[in-house]
This record gives sequence, C-alpha cells and structure tokens, in this order.
Amino acid sequence: MKKMREATVLVTEARERVGGNVTSRSDGTYTWEEGPNSYQPGDAILTLACDAGMRDDILLADPASNRYVLWDGKLRILPHSIESAVLGDFLTWPGKIRAGLGAIGIRPPAPGKEESVKEFVSRNLGTEAFERLIEPFCSGVYAGDPAALSSVAATGRVQRLEPLGGSLVAGAIMAQKEAAQNKKPRDPRLPEVKGQTVGSFRGGLKTFPEGLAKQLGDDVVKCNWKLVGVSKSAEGGYECAYDTPEGPQTVRTKCLLLTAPAYVAAEMVKDMAPAAATALNKFYYPPVASVTISYKKDSFRLDGTSALPEGGLTGFGQLHPRSQGIRTLGTIYSSSLFKDDKRQPDDEFMILNYIGGARDVAIKDLSEEELVKQVHEDALKTILKPGTPLPKVVGVKVWEKAIPQFNLGHLDVLAEAENALTAADCGEKDGLFLGGNYTAGVALGRCVEFGIEQADEVVAYLNAASKKAVAV
Ligand SMILES: Cc1cc2nc3c(=O)[nH]c(=O)nc-3n(C[C@H](O)[C@H](O)[C@H](O)COP(=O)(O)OP(=O)(O)OC[C@H]3O[C@@H](n4cnc5c(N)ncnc54)[C@H](O)[C@@H]3O)c2cc1C
Repeated sequence: MKKMREATVLVTEARERVGGNVTSRSDGTYTWEEGPNSYQPGDAILTLACDAGMRDDILLADPASNRYVLWDGKLRILPHSIESAVLGDFLTWPGKIRAGLGAIGIRPPAPGKEESVKEFVSRNLGTEAFERLIEPFCSGVYAGDPAALSSVAATGRVQRLEPLGGSLVAGAIMAQKEAAQNKKPRDPRLPEVKGQTVGSFRGGLKTFPEGLAKQLGDDVVKCNWKLVGVSKSAEGGYECAYDTPEGPQTVRTKCLLLTAPAYVAAEMVKDMAPAAATALNKFYYPPVASVTISYKKDSFRLDGTSALPEGGLTGFGQLHPRSQGIRTLGTIYSSSLFKDDKRQPDDEFMILNYIGGARDVAIKDLSEEELVKQVHEDALKTILKPGTPLPKVVGVKVWEKAIPQFNLGHLDVLAEAENALTAADCGEKDGLFLGGNYTAGVALGRCVEFGIEQADEVVAYLNAASKKAVAV
C-alpha cells in the first residue's frame, strides 16, 4: 500500500481490469465501446485527466454535429438553439407555443408531490415536447421509463430551475447569473469545450481509468481483489475480507468507500445493518445490450430520404422514441463522432446501438444473432438502403444489470439506506461511505465529479478522526 497525503489508500476491483462499465475493446481493426460511449466534458473529469497526464488523449466531438430524433418516419434534427427550435420542424407550431408558454411558467406543481419525469416535463413543456424530446433522452441516458423515473432524482439540475425562478426560463436565467457570480478562473490546461459536445479519449474511454490506475500504481490499485465481507473491527474501523489471486486477505481500514453497485453494497453491509441492505436491494438495474456493427459506406441512404446529410455520414447519432416502432433505443455514429481517432476501416461506417432497458427487459433472452438482426432491421427503417445485407458484427455485450433507475422514491430509499447505516454506527460519521452511480447520478462525468467530492469528505473524516484520537 502507498501513502497518499496523510492516508494510506487501497483501491480494490473484483475484475481483472479497472474501469467497471467503461469497457473499450480493440481487435487491431476496430475499436469500440461496450459500455458508455462518451461523457459530458465537465471541468472535473477534464481536470482529473490533465492531472493524470492525459491532456493529449482527450477527444471532443464536433459540437456543430447534429443529433437526430425519429418522428413520423423522419429523422429530425434536434434543435441546437432557441432559434432553431422555433424555426425547425422538430415540434409542430402548437407544440412550440405550448413549450414556450410552459417554459415561462403556466402551471405550478402540486405542492409536496414527487413528479415523474413525464409529469414534470409534460406539465412544463407540454406532451409533444415530452414525447419528442425528453422521452427519447430518458431512453438514451437511463434506458428508463419516464413515467417511473423521478424528476427530482433523475434531472436534479433541471428540476431545480422551476423553484429557483418560478419557471424553467426564469430559473435558467437565475442559474446562469449564479454561475457567472461563482465563476472561478478556468484551469488553462483544460481544452475549450464548445456547445453541446461530448468527450472520449484516444483509444477509447478505457484510456481514462487505465491512466488513473497507472498514476496510482500497482501498490494502490489491486485488480482481481473481490470484496466478500465487511465487519466492524474491535480495534475501530472495518475489517474487509477479500478473495485475491494470492488467497483470502483481510484489510483493516479506518474508512471505507463502497463504490460497487447497490446490490453488492447490500451484501457487504447486511450483517452490520440489515435495514440498509434491504433499502439498497430496492434499486432496480434493467438489462441493456450494446451492439456495434459496421457497414460499407455505400450502404447508407445519403439521398435525403434519411436525415443524414447528402453525401456525408456525420453527426452524433439518433434516438428513437418508444412510440415510433423501432426497438433499438438509440444509435451512435461511432465513425463520425471522434474522427481524429481511427476506429474502423476507411471504407466502412461503424454504429453502436443500445437496446433493452426498463421497458424492454426481454432483450436479455435474445441471442447475439437475434440482437444483431433486430438492430439491423431497425437501421434499415431509418438510415440503410433497402436490401443492405447483414453487417460485420464488431461486438455485442449484454449488461444484465446495466444502469440503476432513479425511479420515484429513489432519494428516499437512498436516505433510508444511509439512515440505517448511521443507526447501526456504520454510516458516514463512522467512516463508511456509499458511492457509485446510484448515489451520484448515472452519467460518467457526474460519477467522476461525485468521486472527487467524496474524496474530500473522506479526507475531512480522517482529519477529524485523527484530531479526536489526539484529544483522547
Ligand atoms: C451499456 C451502458 C451504456 C452507458 N452509456 C453511457 C454514456 O454514453 N455516457 C455516460 O455518461 N454514462 C453512460 N453509462 C453510465 C455509466 O457508464 C455508469 O453510470 C458509470 O460508469 C458507473 O460507474 P460506477 O463506478 O458507479 O459503477 P461500475 O462501472 O459498475 O463499477 C463498479 C465496479 O465495482 C466492481 N465490483 C463489484 N463487486 C465488487 C466486489 N465485491 N469487490 C470489488 N469490486 C467489485 C465491479 O467489478 C465494477 O468494476 C452507461 C452504462 C451502461 C451500462
């Protein structure tokens, strides 16, 4: 183990590699993502990447690229700005007027009610904006059901705008003012982030966790170390039992940050705090499959009958609202997203399809062949020329428990788990912290940001604990 500041830190991972869901694969010809495809390039993740010497590996997609949403058989360009929202064909005129009026506040929420994402957005922006814009994004981010997702838990920052300003627009103006007032000088090492772009790393997302692990070193980061039990130590702190390649190991620690999925954390705390385990087991992780396939470039419809620009395969990708008869949740144009990082042969165009989620759990029973056939048939309906033969299959991965759903009651259940840990003297005040995406938010960038915040909390805990020890 290695000394870091005043603490000794050990990072353990059950698998043979770091990164968790972040799973970039390469076979020498293709490079593809099996888990997350990209991240929102907030300052937290960019700073960490720069700190770990990965500044030159950061990739940012062209913010001018289009995103598409399928509606009535046409891939429509997602508006980039208020102007394009008003002038474009993404919403009908009644839909635009309803969204505009709603955004300035026409229907206040029912007091004390926890709204679903569907309720919150339909009340504020109208049914059409919900169906065409937000419903596909719930599929894209959570693979979730917007009627079940909690607005406050799943869209915290947007949800906050309404109480802040009395309407979404007034709240957004106030939030912008707040941000301008609190603006700190930006670290000059960070790349400029323009518009609604997304990020990755040269060689795929895995470059990032691998770079962090390399910086920490093998003494700190232990792969193939599976945590199998946690108990309170008679000498204070916790005893963590691991299965390791060298056989069982026990580590005593003053402070433990559990970032494994909620159902694993539940197993770890069940003897110390059974009620916390019951709460943690309530979080739902539906299955999602990622299916990466590649076609010859001339397989695509570039004649104006798809939304792809004539003669060019560009853009972030496309989302499919559940009402539009396409089973695939969304398709990412892997070949055009990070053009500087060659990820497939020059004469091909590779796409990453996500399929499944909370409203299509049956995908876990499909074979790889059936999954490929399904996404191919869906692509034929939107972007491929009729008669295009089955693609080159680059990689298929079924995540049986993919993404925790921030459903109605999520924050209460999280509080229930934390309160039960506190009541059993094994919560944050006793040095045991819960982390990971079901606590932070599911976006990769948010998980990183939250991890940095938690690291400060852990240091504060250890500093306070060592002061107490001196006072005793
Ligand atoms: C298919 C898919 C697509 C996604 N797409 C995107 C996207 O494009 N953009 C985005 O921002 N987010 C995306 N996400 C979400 C994002 O990837 C995750 O929320 C985030 O990576 C989760 O990080 P985590 O560390 O909380 O959990 P995980 O990545 O699940 O890591 C948990 C780790 O705990 C380890 N572990 C489990 N049990 C034990 C044990 N007993 N002992 C030791 N270690 C253990 C696991 O092996 C794993 O490495 C996607 C997720 C999935 C599944």
